[in-house]
Amino acid sequence: MTQNIAIVGTGFLGMTLAMRLADAGAKVTLYESAAEIGGLASVWEINNIIWDKHYHVVLASDKYTRDLFVELGLADDFRWVETKTGFYTDGELLSMSDTLEFLKFPPLGIISKLRLGATIFYASRVKDWKRLEKVTVEEWLTKLSGRKTFEKIWKPLLKAKLGEAYKETAASFIWATIQRMYSARRSGMKREMFGYIKGGYARVLERFGEVLVEKGVEIRLNSRVQQIERLDSGKIKVSTAAARRGKDTKPQVVRQRTKYASFQAGAVVAPGFSGAFLSEPKTDGGTVVQFPDAGTDSYFDKVILTCPSNTAAKMLIQAEPAERKMLESIRYQGIVCASVMMKCSLSDFYVTNITDDTPFTGIIEMTAIVDKREFERNALVYLPRYIAPDDELFDRSDEEIERQFLDGLERMYPKFRRKDVVAFKISRVRQVFPVPVLRYSESLADKRSTVEGVYVVNSSHIVNGTLNINETVQLAENFFAEEFGGRTLAS
Ligand SMILES: Cc1cc2nc3c(=O)[nH]c(=O)nc-3n(C[C@H](O)[C@H](O)[C@H](O)COP(=O)(O)OP(=O)(O)OC[C@H]3O[C@@H](n4cnc5c(N)ncnc54)[C@H](O)[C@@H]3O)c2cc1C
Repeated sequence: MTQNIAIVGTGFLGMTLAMRLADAGAKVTLYESAAEIGGLASVWEINNIIWDKHYHVVLASDKYTRDLFVELGLADDFRWVETKTGFYTDGELLSMSDTLEFLKFPPLGIISKLRLGATIFYASRVKDWKRLEKVTVEEWLTKLSGRKTFEKIWKPLLKAKLGEAYKETAASFIWATIQRMYSARRSGMKREMFGYIKGGYARVLERFGEVLVEKGVEIRLNSRVQQIERLDSGKIKVSTAAARRGKDTKPQVVRQRTKYASFQAGAVVAPGFSGAFLSEPKTDGGTVVQFPDAGTDSYFDKVILTCPSNTAAKMLIQAEPAERKMLESIRYQGIVCASVMMKCSLSDFYVTNITDDTPFTGIIEMTAIVDKREFERNALVYLPRYIAPDDELFDRSDEEIERQFLDGLERMYPKFRRKDVVAFKISRVRQVFPVPVLRYSESLADKRSTVEGVYVVNSSHIVNGTLNINETVQLAENFFAEEFGGRTLAS
């Protein structure tokens, strides 16, 4: 009999799994709470251009991503560019793109620089990452690079990504980061080559959506899964939340169709309204109502959850307490990420690392890689600030964040002019990646849930890598091979 499988989440994990399972003969249904596919790699409109909500590049060493994009028919759309890296420290913007620039780097003396270089080289050679899970990143880096270099360079960089959680983070975190950056560098001059797909992730997602639909995958957008329950019959019931709307929204039932995929809405929604995010558009609590007929139940043989672990714990009402505890114990780091479209570039650097105190924790200039013609000759700059999920910045208004971030740019770049900003948009995500605390991989719940037929597989299972599409696709491929590989899922 054909296996009927539901997947929760249309990020690259859910979509890759959907493709493999459909190829193996299963009937696959993808559930997505947002109005579009893509998850963290989804796109939005900025200044009338559809582009990535969060900055994304492909590394030459990203074998899984590259193979997937080729499989989607995008082989001819890759663009590869040599990139430069900047460092903003003590009020100065410095280039740190090759060994010579590294040796000239003013903030550190020659001995500190040699120790810093040796630390990075050593980390790139270490194979036993499990050993590094037992020591904090602060302890490990201080031992290798010295206290002064830790305080001056490493600590600000760690805080930029992890906030105060850096104190509890294992050394495996920086090991994984260095491994990834090292793999991006080519031999010889050791220059970085980064790639993107012409048209950005909008192009990738459009193609992915088309391929999935061609393979018979059903995509249900605006469908937030609320509960998963195994019935006595052995079937698994997936219940979606009712869509919500403001009192003034016309009670109109529509069949939705987006640019990226055709789908059947699992919950009934009004046009242009995402049923999942109450913050989008803004509704005040008093006027929010539920469509009476909106929530739906469907029945499957197997269900795979790719959403964050604590969300999965809430859905799995029958999970054993030990599993629930493990799922709930994963701590996430979030992000507020601004996309700024402006008339002029800030610099030639794709990434500018910041060690000074600024409102954002890094600067990513997309147009150091992507042809400006993609943006009507404007520059596109991302200003990320990684923060804990309960940070008060999440609740600040867009106007306040914009003012704060642009003040920061003015202080850093004397030639920057606010009037050159043509668009400013803010993304807020409370759960982006799990904080790899000490002995992280030892306390992970099994991918097979204690609820038979249900699996929880998500970025928490990336134990020896950083969060990126390559690791995500690799996780999907490995999980598929382990659980379903070599079997046909159709009668
Ligand atoms: C700022 C930033 C920069 C990045 N830069 C890069 C880069 O340069 N290169 C790179 O390779 N990677 C990069 N990444 C990482 C990359 O985006 C992720 O690795 C990848 O998108 C993760 O995919 P996923 O499927 O695991 O998770 P997600 O994309 O988070 O997908 C999970 C999905 O589940 C859905 N969901 C959650 N709860 C429910 C529910 N109850 N019901 C239904 N659906 C639900 C969510 O809406 C989401 O769509 C970056 C990420 C960020 C945030």
